[in-house]
Amino acid sequence: MEEHKIVMVGNGGVGKSAMTVRFVQDVFVTEYDPTIEDYYHKVITIDEKECGVEVLDTPSHLEFSSMWDCIYRSGDGFLIVYSITDRSSFEQVTNYYDKIILRKDVNDGEVPIIIVGNKCDLEIEREVSYQEGHDLAQRILCKFIETSALTKQNLEEVFYAIARETKNLKRYY
Ligand code: GDP
Ligand code: MG
Repeated sequence: MEEHKIVMVGNGGVGKSAMTVRFVQDVFVTEYDPTIEDYYHKVITIDEKECGVEVLDTPSHLEFSSMWDCIYRSGDGFLIVYSITDRSSFEQVTNYYDKIILRKDVNDGEVPIIIVGNKCDLEIEREVSYQEGHDLAQRILCKFIETSALTKQNLEEVFYAIARETKNLKRYY
């Protein structure tokens, strides 16, 4: 069975753990230990073929920055997550993007990355418009999607989309 390694990156509190656990176990968690680095696994079907998706949920802080090299290098595809209710998390998106490109030693557009604006159920607390997210993603040649780990809006879609991109890219090697 084909395996795709997906890495969740983004500022603390944006919902990386909530998204991961919601996707893999279909539970919404509200207090997840922010220091945990953990792997999750789920079998999904793409184009009538089963494949494994391994999701690495990264913590806010790691003891050694060299650990990030390892994490970024091991990923086949990445979800860069910000919260639509937290502008500072949005402002870090390009930072994460640059780190991935640098560490994987590839050019723009050569690694599957989707920009994810999470917590889209919290419309009244919105600080980043859909258009801003969309425009940023377009500038760096990534797909863009808004999700909610709470209501599950676009939640499965984003994991399927990144797994599909990863699968398609692997065909070329
Ligand atoms: P992480 O640090 O990126 O892993 O963030 P967490 O997954 O721990 O989420 C931080 C907080 O935001 C938790 O209280 C979650 O329950 C909450 N949260 C995460 N995703 C959503 C969402 O889509 N909608 C709402 N309303 N809350 C969310
Ligand atoms: Mg977390």
